[in-house]
Amino acid sequence: MTWEIVIGLETHVELATKTKIFCACTTAFGGPPNTHCCPVCTGMPGALPVLNKKVLEFAVKAGLALNCSITQHSRFDRKNYFYPDLPKAYQISQLYLPIARDGAVSIHTGAENKTVRIHELHMEEDAGKLIHDPWLDQTRADYNRCGVPLIEIVTEPDFRTAYEVVAYLEKLKETLQYLGVSDCKMQEGSLRCDVNLSVRPMGSMELGTRTEMKNLNSFKSIVRAIDYEAKRQIELIEEGKRVIQETRRWDENKDATYAMRSKENAQDYRYFPEPDLPPVELSQNDLDELRATQPELAEAKRARYQRDYSLPLYDCQMLTSDKALAAFFERLVALGTPPKQGANWIMGEVLGALSQRAMEAKDMALTAPTLARLIALVDEGRLNRNTAVKVFEAVFDTDQDVDEYVTAHNLEQVNDSRLVLEACVKVLQAHPQSVSDYRSGKEKAFGFMVGQAMRELKGKANPQTVNAALRELLET
Ligand code: ADP
Ligand code: MG
Ligand code: ZN
Repeated sequence: MTWEIVIGLETHVELATKTKIFCACTTAFGGPPNTHCCPVCTGMPGALPVLNKKVLEFAVKAGLALNCSITQHSRFDRKNYFYPDLPKAYQISQLYLPIARDGAVSIHTGAENKTVRIHELHMEEDAGKLIHDPWLDQTRADYNRCGVPLIEIVTEPDFRTAYEVVAYLEKLKETLQYLGVSDCKMQEGSLRCDVNLSVRPMGSMELGTRTEMKNLNSFKSIVRAIDYEAKRQIELIEEGKRVIQETRRWDENKDATYAMRSKENAQDYRYFPEPDLPPVELSQNDLDELRATQPELAEAKRARYQRDYSLPLYDCQMLTSDKALAAFFERLVALGTPPKQGANWIMGEVLGALSQRAMEAKDMALTAPTLARLIALVDEGRLNRNTAVKVFEAVFDTDQDVDEYVTAHNLEQVNDSRLVLEACVKVLQAHPQSVSDYRSGKEKAFGFMVGQAMRELKGKANPQTVNAALRELLET
C-alpha cells in the first residue's frame, strides 16, 4: 500500500513592534530576566490592557499579503489555562473572530506551483519562558516575553511533503520580512511551527487521525520530525494498530517524537470574549490606507527584474533574497549602472564582503552612489577590474569617496601607450631567457612577461594593452 502524508501548519510569528501588544514594555529579545515587565504583562489584579495599534496594522498587512479577507469587526477572546510561564493564567487571543481569514499562498516546488490555503490569521500574546537548570534541579521563570505580540497563521491541511512545508515557510518568511512586520529569526524563536500530520491510503479523500508536534524552530528539525512521524504512523497502521490523536514533542537529541498529551485529556480552555478590551473596528478607510502602503513583495520584484532588466532568474532570486539588497540594486540601476553589471557586482563582491563579515545588507556602510561610481570608472576605462575590486574592498566599510581614494593611491589605469611600451621594453631587456623561451614556442614565458610588465606598471594597466604591446615587440 502506498500512503499519502497530509500536513497542516500553525505558525507563530513574533511581530517587530517596539512595545508589547497590551502595554508599553519593550519587546527587545533577551535582557536580564524579568526586566521587560509591568503590571499589565505580568497580569497583576486590576491592570488593564490597551491594544497596540501597530500590532493591528502589522496583522492586517500580513493578512493582505497572504490574500486573506480582513475581518473589519474582530475581537479578542480569553483562553484560560494554568502554566507557570503564564502569570495571568490566561492568554488573550482571537478564537471566534480572527482578524484575517481564507487566504492563499502560492509556493514553487521544483517545476510545479501549488496553492496552500490559509484558514486564518489571528493576533495573540506570547507567554514567558521557563529556564530549566538540571545542575541545580531548578526551574526559573523569565516573564520578559510575556505580552510580546504574535500572529498565528493556520493553514488548511494542504501539504503532502516536508519539501512543500519548507517552501511555504521560506515564502512566509520572505513575505513577512519584506512587509517589515517580523524579523522571522527562527533561532531567536520569532518564527515557530506546530506541525499537524496524518497519513491515509493514496487516493483516499478522507483525512486520517492526526498528531500535532509543537514548537519546531528550525527547518532541519521540521523536516526530520515530519519524516519520523510519518514513518511512525504508517508502521502503526500497517501493524493493525491505530493512531491516537495527541500532541507529541520532537526531541532533537533522540531524533524521535514522544507523546505529551492526548486529545482525550485535552484541556478545556473555557474561551470567552475578553471583557477588558473593546472589539476592534476597522473602517473601510483604514483598510484602504493600509492596502495602499503595502510594499512590492519579493515575487513581484523578481518578475519585474526579469521583465524590465532581462536578468536571469538566478540573478533575480539572489537580488531579492534580502529586501535591503534589492533596494540597493534598484538604487544602483536608478543611478545609471547597467543592470547586469550591477547584479554581478552585488552577487560577487557585495555578497562576498557581507558574508566575510557575517553582516546583513541593511547594516552595510557602502552606499549605492559609491558603487555606481566605481562601476562607472571601470566602464570609462579609468580603473581596471582588478584594481576596482581592491578599491571596493578598501571603501566597503567606510563608504569613502571613490575618486578621492583612487587619486590618493594613484590607482588610475595607465592608458598611456608610451608608458606601457616602455615598461614592456624594460621587461624584455631584463629577461632575455624568457624571450628566447617564448621564441622557441613556450607560451608560458609570455604569461610571465605579462605579469612582470603589469608589476612594472603597479597593476594599473589595462591587461589587453599590455598583451598587445608585448606581442608586437616580440614579433618584430
Ligand atoms: P485545533 O484547533 O484543535 O488545533 P484545527 O482543526 O484548527 O485544530 O487544525 C489545526 C491544524 O491542523 C490546521 O493547520 C489543520 O490544517 C491541521 N489539520 C487538521 N486536521 C488534520 C489532519 N487530519 N491531518 C493533518 N492536518 C490536519
Ligand atoms: Mg492547534
Ligand atoms: Zn508590560
